[in-house]
Amino acid sequence: MQYKLAVIPGDGIGPEVMEQAKRTLDSIGTRFGHSFTYETLLAGGCAIDKTGGCLPAETVTACKEADTVLLGAIGGWKWDTLPGNERPEQALLGLRKELKLFANIRPAILFEELIDACPLRPEIIAGGLDIVVVRELTGGIYFGEKGYKDTPLGRAAYDVEQYAEEEVRRIARVAFDMAMKRNKQVTSVDKANVLESSRLWRKIVIEVAAEYPEVTLNHLYIDNATMQLVAAPRQFDVILTGNMFGDILSDEASMITGSIGMLPSASLTAGNFGLYEPVHGSAPDIAGQDKANPMAMILSVAMMLRYTFGLTAEADAVEMAVRQVLQKGYRTPDLYRGEDGLTLVGTREVGRLIAEEI
Ligand code: NAD
Repeated sequence: MQYKLAVIPGDGIGPEVMEQAKRTLDSIGTRFGHSFTYETLLAGGCAIDKTGGCLPAETVTACKEADTVLLGAIGGWKWDTLPGNERPEQALLGLRKELKLFANIRPAILFEELIDACPLRPEIIAGGLDIVVVRELTGGIYFGEKGYKDTPLGRAAYDVEQYAEEEVRRIARVAFDMAMKRNKQVTSVDKANVLESSRLWRKIVIEVAAEYPEVTLNHLYIDNATMQLVAAPRQFDVILTGNMFGDILSDEASMITGSIGMLPSASLTAGNFGLYEPVHGSAPDIAGQDKANPMAMILSVAMMLRYTFGLTAEADAVEMAVRQVLQKGYRTPDLYRGEDGLTLVGTREVGRLIAEEI
């Protein structure tokens, strides 16, 4: 099969990890007889430098015409002083909106080999962790009305949290569908004790749950959920939540798996189209030093093969190759604390090893 990918390397370590993702795909192509073509596109800080805007129209058009999109990371210190609406990260919001990517899927899996990298006590994680956070991505406070107004206490700034029934329903269905393929348990996270938008969220989630009688649904307030995630993370299967709570919870979930450099994500439309990217940012502190862990990006490729192209064997091969490289003791700096028997490797070498395993 032939697949046309829109590739946005972005800023910082983005281009470094993207190189290794393409290397992985090329070896999948060789092994399984597929051809992947890449159209490299600008977005983020590098786009600001070259075109004046963080999300050129050509990038959006090319993404829409591609079979799927791979994104490295966007942003960096260089552009940190720009006003909010001119910052590189706006490209992410723009892409989500333009491509109608309303569902963000973030698996948080603690690999057996990395159990020592988990900051939680061994008895809390005994038996491993396998959680998926399903986050609504194109609604809520990040996209609500925002602005400034004068008040007796001086200028006030506001951001409005709003969710419409259909927005909740479609993301809830993604979470319940996912639960059906896993342990059939959904935890919906909201703040229904305080927020009206959360009360509607909860009502609609309960309605959707009726369509999935096999799935157990429970509800947690966001403050409790953040505690439960570190106190007893093994209780979770699928976590369903809105945009802002999902932003926070998915990063917390990523920390308990050891390194943010291990975590892939998918942002999906109602069809099979998706944007696949690592959870981490552009890591300006290590950019250009061959220190970035490319596994999150490579595991995002596995998600792409599985969800958008339905290539299960190919996705399994990528995940297996990552696991084997870890089993053989190779570690990038984020996963290495000088342990005996482990070999410290850089971004390029670990990418080469994974491609070789495939
Ligand atoms: P970050 O994820 O870039 O980095 C946080 C820490 O994790 C850093 O110490 C970094 O070195 C480390 N890290 C991240 N990815 C790693 C990897 N693959 N291997 C090894 N170590 C890794 O988050 P930040 O520092 O808060 O943000 C840096 C920039 O990235 C900011 O401009 C931010 O807005 C942007 N950002 C972009 C995205 C995205 O493109 N989707 C997501 C988050 C942050």
